[in-house]
Amino acid sequence: MPPTIWYEGRVTRIDPLNSNTRSFWIEVPETDRFDFQAGQFITMDLPIHEKRLQRWRSYSIASAPEGTNAFELCIVQLEGGLATKYLFEEVRVGTAIRFKGPGGAFVLPETLDRDVVMICTGTGVAPFRSMLLDIRNKDIPHRKLHLIFGTRFEEAILYKAEFLDLMKSLPKFTYFRGVVEGKPCEPPGRPTRCPPGIRAPCLYGSLFG
Ligand SMILES: Cc1cc2nc3c(=O)[nH]c(=O)nc-3n(C[C@H](O)[C@H](O)[C@H](O)COP(=O)(O)OP(=O)(O)OC[C@H]3O[C@@H](n4cnc5c(N)ncnc54)[C@H](O)[C@@H]3O)c2cc1C
Repeated sequence: MPPTIWYEGRVTRIDPLNSNTRSFWIEVPETDRFDFQAGQFITMDLPIHEKRLQRWRSYSIASAPEGTNAFELCIVQLEGGLATKYLFEEVRVGTAIRFKGPGGAFVLPETLDRDVVMICTGTGVAPFRSMLLDIRNKDIPHRKLHLIFGTRFEEAILYKAEFLDLMKSLPKFTYFRGVVEGKPCEPPGRPTRCPPGIRAPCLYGSLFG
């Protein structure tokens, strides 16, 4: 096994995505290219504990590989969470972040000769965003691509405008959002509120019709 390489990254940008989720951009000054495959993650060693393994937290890369030395993460703050308390309360633009990676085998197949259905909630969208942007950027041949994003609240939908926009540049891409506690329910009393024009049968029909 090749030796693990630890990098000293630097936070270059922090953007709020909603009330408890932020995007963190990290640059790796020691290299010109930080290569990774869409869907992979990095593991940070954060100053939150004396024991090494208790300090490690993994985060999926939310941006597409673009041959640069920078990448974006999308992180949700957890109540009582050690790492996210540090990341949200201590980390600023310019803060150094020690990390290793990329790692993980959750990547696109070599050829996209079947329809792809991506199902997620919250920051689980990060690897899928990376994959979809990669498909668009590299013009990777593909069949139908479906992203199904379910949340309890409308404001928890991440990258909504971007995915809606992506449907224009990726005609075979369909984006579904389901909000469990949205207002008002459509039709009243139903647990799921779909965006205008999209109903559960329509989602089913689009996937399997
Ligand atoms: C491959 C991978 C990719 C990931 N990608 C992302 C990503 O893109 N974005 C993202 O936001 N997260 C991601 N995660 C999750 C991330 O690694 C962290 O687990 C997450 O940020 C929480 O870390 P934390 O230190 O803030 O919380 P922790 O301190 O680990 O605590 C987690 C939760 O458990 C509770 N808890 C802790 N100790 C106890 C206890 N003794 N009893 C009861 N409850 C307790 C805390 O209150 C908190 O709610 C990923 C994880 C993996 C493995």
